[in-house]
Parts: sequence; structure tokens; C-alpha cells
Amino acid sequence: MARPDAFSIPSSIPSSAPSPIPSPSRREFLRAIAAATGALSLPALSFGHDRHANFTPEAGAPCLVTRRLAFETWVSESPPANDKPLRFGVFSLFAPQHLIVRSREALLLRFDGEARTLPANSDALHLRLIDGGRIAADLSGETFAATRIEALSTSGGEAVFTLEVPPPSLHGTIQRQFRGRLLLTAAQRHLQPVLLMRSEVAVASIVLAEAPPHAPPEFLRAQAAASRSFLLSARTGHIGFDFCDTTHCQFLRELPTPGSPHALAAEATTGLVLIAAGGILPAMYSRSCSGRTHALAESGLSVSGYPYYSVHCELCSRRPELWVRDSDAGSVAHSERARQAWNRVHGWSALPSASYAVNGAVLRGSGIGHGIGMCQRGAAEMAKQGATYREILAHYYPNTAIASAAIAPALA
Ligand SMILES: [Zn+2]
Ligand SMILES: [Zn+2]
Repeated sequence: MARPDAFSIPSSIPSSAPSPIPSPSRREFLRAIAAATGALSLPALSFGHDRHANFTPEAGAPCLVTRRLAFETWVSESPPANDKPLRFGVFSLFAPQHLIVRSREALLLRFDGEARTLPANSDALHLRLIDGGRIAADLSGETFAATRIEALSTSGGEAVFTLEVPPPSLHGTIQRQFRGRLLLTAAQRHLQPVLLMRSEVAVASIVLAEAPPHAPPEFLRAQAAASRSFLLSARTGHIGFDFCDTTHCQFLRELPTPGSPHALAAEATTGLVLIAAGGILPAMYSRSCSGRTHALAESGLSVSGYPYYSVHCELCSRRPELWVRDSDAGSVAHSERARQAWNRVHGWSALPSASYAVNGAVLRGSGIGHGIGMCQRGAAEMAKQGATYREILAHYYPNTAIASAAIAPALA
């Protein structure tokens, strides 16, 4: 999910009917929607769910949290083609000065355009920030200094490699395996690794990072479709890459193992996205709600395009995720915008949700995250009770349809 620190949705969101389009495209699109959902207006189920969206990005905790808020996000005017490579800024929380690349396969390296090869099974490649915004790399006894370093397969495509932030790090060694092309530059006073990753590879990785432990397959499919919708339509305001790997956008850790439930969920929903207001919905979701999810308007957020809806969440209604904080935050208005403003100053878990009551010296609240869109906790429970991913998505995103991203741009 996305961290709610810039909860504005541009006014340029298409707010009503899409522009006229050639009838063959419209027929094709509507036929696909009809096949996928049976209707454009989907009734809400009454199942149970709640979910969690808690995050402590400054701590870099390996959370299962997730929330996503695409607050600066909106329906794309021209969504990228299906599985277009996207740019992910990774290790955002660690501000690395030193990175290590390990690969079993040979890698093509480019130092400001000067090509070299890292042989297969060679020693780790150490990359360090040096003066002047340059990066030093030791390769086969030779030292290269460059402002831009790329690592890719020897054929020029995506590679599988491990990227590591070595100690001293606040969190010890951080090591993750990625599939994609690596671009490394210096950003301010740290290294900024950016991965060019196919959207379907990213979806599988995000599902693994965002899903609660032992989540049922239908929940994973719902998560995959929601995450894909976000990736293909959100505009996050980052410079130099499209998405970060924190709660501001969506968690992205490692590749799931081929054949794992997370990988299978991405495969089973390949290309499928949520459609609303004439385009792909940059679907928000959060970890848990307080028994009902929230519409944008009731959260104090501007509404343009898809308004989101307040829907019943059975599990959170029955057994909410409760939290307690001291009363310092008691003057904070009960709105998502106010909560985000408070948390920007006091930390992203200072106020877990905007649903709370002041009780003497403490705040007692429920739900974790903004509570807009899919409640992951409730969605997982729905799946346990037998709901399909389509039913889950229809419940939390009323008045949307599921369709292939490949044809959705025809409506934009
Ligand atoms: Zn819920
Ligand atoms: Zn971000």
C-alpha cells in the first residue's frame, strides 16, 4: 500500500463518462467485462473481513502490513501496456552507502556506458558511494568510477541477482533477490538502486510482501489484481522511478518461488485489473478496518473519479484489530488527512487509524491503516469462508469491473 503522506488526488481524474471511443473497442471491452463479471454494478456481499495496514517504514520492519494508498494517484489517462517494465526504487529506507551485487549468471555491466562483464559465479561486486556523486566499483582488480551503473543479463535483458545492503546497517544485512535490470545512481547522499521490472514480476513480488501469512489462494488473487491495478494506473510523484518499495506505494521484497501460492495467484490473474470511472483503478487497500471501510469523502479526502464506498467488514465488525496509544494525539481530527499529517511528524505508526476514542489518558482505536478499499484482513477471512477473488473485489470495490488491462486503455 501506499503511505498516506500525500493524500491528494489530482483534479484531472476523469470523473464521469469516458470519451466516446470507436464502437469495436467499446464492444470488445464491454464483452470482456460481461464475461468477467456479469455486470458493471456489483452488489456488496456480507462477509467478514477486516485487515491490517500498519507500517513502520522508518524501522524497515519486515511487516505484513500493507496498506496502500495511492493518494497522489488517479486513474491513468493512458495506462502502460500490459507487463510494461516499471521502475522501482528499492531499499528506500536504508539510504545505502555500499551495495553488493551477487549473481550466479554472468552480468553485463555498464559504467556510464562503458561495458564490462561480471563473469558467472564470480566474487561479489561491491559498489560504494564516493565523492562527487560518483560510484566506485571493483571489478577483476580494476576500479571503475561512474555516475550511472547498469547491471543486466549478457543478452541485454532482465537478470536474476541478489542485492545486499551490508552492515553497518541499522537492521543488519539486508539481502533480497530480484529479477530485472538494475540501474544505480547517487541520490543526494546515498546510493539509489532502481529496478526495471516487468509488471507481472512485480505483482508476484508484491503479493508475497503484502499478504498475511498463510493467506488463502483466493485472497492472494484478489491482492494480485488490486496490486496490478495500482501499478498500472497510479502516479506516485516519485522522481527517477515509478514506485518505491515501502508502504507509500506497495511493499516489494523478493521474488516468490515459482509454483508458490503467491506466484500462482499472479499467474491466475495475469493482466486482470479493476476498472472504474472509465479507466484502471489505482486500487487502495489497507491492513484492517474498524468494521466498515471508508469512502474518500468521509475520510476527509477529495473525491474525483471513483469515490470508494463504506462497506461492511464482517470480521473487523466482530473481532476488530484493537490498539491503544497515549492521548497526545487526542486533538487530532478523526479524518485520514489529519491522521496522515500527525503521522508525518510522529511516525507512521503513531496513529494506526482514524477510528478511535479518547478514554482518559489513552486513545483506544481499531483498524490499522486508512481503511479505504480492500481490507486485507477481512478479505483473507472472506477467502477462508469460500469467497472467490471476484467476490472479494466486488465487495470492497463496489461498482467496479474486472477486465484485462490490455483492452482497458480503449476506454481512457
Ligand atoms: Zn475489515
Ligand atoms: Zn512510493
